[in-house]
Amino acid sequence: YAKVSGRNQYQFFSKDMNRKAKSRLELEGRMRRALANEEFVVFYQPKVSADRDTIVGAEALIRWMDPERGMVSPGEFIPVAEESGQIEAIGTWVLRESCRQNRKWQNAGFDPLKVSVNVSARQFRSRGLIETVTEALDDTGLDPKWLELEITESMLMNDVDAAVRKMKALRDLGIGLSIDDFGTGYSSLSYLGRFPITTLKIDRAFIADVDTNPKTAEIARAIIGLSRGLNLEVVAEGAEIAAHIMFLRNNGCDTVQGFYYSRPVPAEEFERMMRQPVLLHA
Ligand code: C2E
Ligand code: MG
Ligand code: MG
Ligand code: MG
Repeated sequence: YAKVSGRNQYQFFSKDMNRKAKSRLELEGRMRRALANEEFVVFYQPKVSADRDTIVGAEALIRWMDPERGMVSPGEFIPVAEESGQIEAIGTWVLRESCRQNRKWQNAGFDPLKVSVNVSARQFRSRGLIETVTEALDDTGLDPKWLELEITESMLMNDVDAAVRKMKALRDLGIGLSIDDFGTGYSSLSYLGRFPITTLKIDRAFIADVDTNPKTAEIARAIIGLSRGLNLEVVAEGAEIAAHIMFLRNNGCDTVQGFYYSRPVPAEEFERMMRQPVLLHA
């Protein structure tokens, strides 16, 4: 028998289900403690202006420093947090921490950056999202123009009208909105014009072989052209080698993010990169 999380009832499981449910419950328990014990950390990955080669922004990416298992990647625990509902508390923490850090950098005299925070499907649908964002901005004193939320296409397609309303309310706060992993979801170009977004982020699947596959290159060019036509900033993720950077620069991509410049790093290391922009090569 295993206790089902959140409900006060016992349910019978097969041996295998029992094992899975048990490890799931353990993970949920560890996540709850992780938030209380401050084991979550936000890493930052630079977003670099393609033509000026300077850092213009950062993507905030959560890491879990589990004392027993070391660093756990979000791919492992975000889906579980999403299912268990813990994503709301974790997501709120990431948002506040990212706003706090960004404001701290501005107060320290660094050129202002836009920090982008990932929002999960459940967070996006949550009634409290607008209030959570408003409070994060108010409490940290961050000017909303330096905050952007990254959402994915698939989060928007279930109920397009509700999604548009939610996006408008977010934009009314003065923040930016980016479509993450663009091109991989149930992308429906007919809706794109209705979404009050500021940024398109080309999925790294397209960037990976822009230098070797002419068809992929053509698709990447089309997304860049589309962004230009819709007056959106266009960001490429997953730029790993000089050939990717060259392609993106030559084809008018605004902003580039990827291992070529830097992996996601702790705030202190990010600060060092801002102090020594010479470390950026290209
Ligand atoms: P994403 O939002 O698409 O983030 C980009 C992912 O690509 C990051 O993985 C980043 O480390 C990785 N990446 C960046 N540049 C390169 C590159 O040049 N090559 C390759 N191979 N990978 C690159 P990460 O940090 O493991 O995050 C994975 C996903 O987890 C994110 O995908 C996002 O969906 C989710 N995630 C991360 N942090 C958060 C968070 O705070 N909240 C929520 N809801 N989701 C998050
Ligand atoms: Mg993202
Ligand atoms: Mg992405
Ligand atoms: Mg991605």
